Amino acid sequence: MLKNDMLDQWDRDYFFHPSTHLAQFARGEAPNRIVTGGKGCHIEDRDGNRLLDAFAGLYCVNVGYGRPEIAEAIAEQARELSYYHAYVGHGTEASITLAKMILERAPDGMSKVYFGLGGSDANETNVKLVWYYNNILGRPEKKKIISRWRGYHGSGLMTGSLTGLELFHRKFDLPLSQVIHTEAPYYYRRPDLNMSEEAFTAWCAAELEQLIEREGPDTIAAFIGEPVLGTGGIVPPPAGYWEAIQPILKKHDILLIADEVVTGFGRLGSMTGSDHYGLTPDIMTIAKGLTSAYAPLSGSIVGDRVWQVLEQGTDELGPIGHGWTYSAHPIGAAAGIANLQLIDELGLVENAGTTGAHFRKAMAEAIGAHAHVGDIRGEGMMCAVEFVKDRDTRRFFDASEKVGARVTEALLAEGVIGRSMPQGDILGFAPPLCLTPAEAEEIAGKTAKAVAKVLG
Ligand code: PLP
Repeated sequence: MLKNDMLDQWDRDYFFHPSTHLAQFARGEAPNRIVTGGKGCHIEDRDGNRLLDAFAGLYCVNVGYGRPEIAEAIAEQARELSYYHAYVGHGTEASITLAKMILERAPDGMSKVYFGLGGSDANETNVKLVWYYNNILGRPEKKKIISRWRGYHGSGLMTGSLTGLELFHRKFDLPLSQVIHTEAPYYYRRPDLNMSEEAFTAWCAAELEQLIEREGPDTIAAFIGEPVLGTGGIVPPPAGYWEAIQPILKKHDILLIADEVVTGFGRLGSMTGSDHYGLTPDIMTIAKGLTSAYAPLSGSIVGDRVWQVLEQGTDELGPIGHGWTYSAHPIGAAAGIANLQLIDELGLVENAGTTGAHFRKAMAEAIGAHAHVGDIRGEGMMCAVEFVKDRDTRRFFDASEKVGARVTEALLAEGVIGRSMPQGDILGFAPPLCLTPAEAEEIAGKTAKAVAKVLG
């Protein structure tokens, strides 16, 4: 690897970083970090810092860094066959085997896997499949997609539209008109503090039903949702949420796309979020944990009901007009196989449940009583701490105070990477699934120090 004194300058001069304040970065006012290595739950940078990565990269390095089993599988695949495409019936041992392994881990009723490269392109595929499905069924008007405010589904044209966060729309002419948003199932931010969790669930369901009626059920093709809201604040659904939502979708013949980019392959302490919450999706989006980010790979798992219609479509029209050069790339597939094997061998799904619960308990003990900690929540190996000015009235801090970002920065100074989530003062955690109880306690202890430093 290139290690020279010019890297910092080249970084500012030549590199367009995603999700970055471009002007500040180019002027050298925003920090950079050049990451050089990783082992287990830690990364290292070229300045010699060793940091506990309590966000697993972007909640994706689920098996932890530096696993030789995956590195070797990638190298072996590259030596044997670095690439062949998957068009017109071509495949490789790795891509076919991985498709089978995914279906073995998916909920009942799923049929085939289409492979992409990342979560955004997988969701683009999903929307195209849904549109094709309704055209083949002779329902050209049934095209709109419902997503939730605070949902995150990517940052492409369609997927950026599905994403329900202001930052991803502003000045990009998004959302596109085919996308409509409904309420976020975010109990802590319920409209009326006196609402019980059950009443809030009923309110979310009623809002959805009204939206469908307003738009016309015949115009709505699909509903997309993450089993647990991720980037929108790490928010598990309120009690009974999915049980209330699914019958409404069924009643109006609206397909359910479960976006499991974060929750797939163990993060919630179950193999999938759909298993965890009893979802029966028509399509599932997978990425991140599929390869633990050792190579880019995503998937659209297509359920039987949609698959039958896709087959019908190609009988009528010929081959499906969809595909990427890198669909089912064998190096990604080899990484996926080794990764899924490792998840099983190391018992990481179970560890996500048990150590994840221990982590949230440790966090609650460390900062639960703090006057500015309004909510500590999560599921499996996910945890969020939401800060408020006044916990009794749930009055939030002014955004200009940047409380979430400042606590995240103070935590980094303690050697722990958390993530300041958008739209609120929310400190998010989604560590590798191999986190140990001692590491969980270390994160909680250092979070308490960071909170004390910023908020007293
Ligand atoms: N869906 C969910 C739930 C995500 O969290 C993400 C990324 O964080 C995406 C889709 C988009 O994935 P990618 O960034 O790989 O395009």
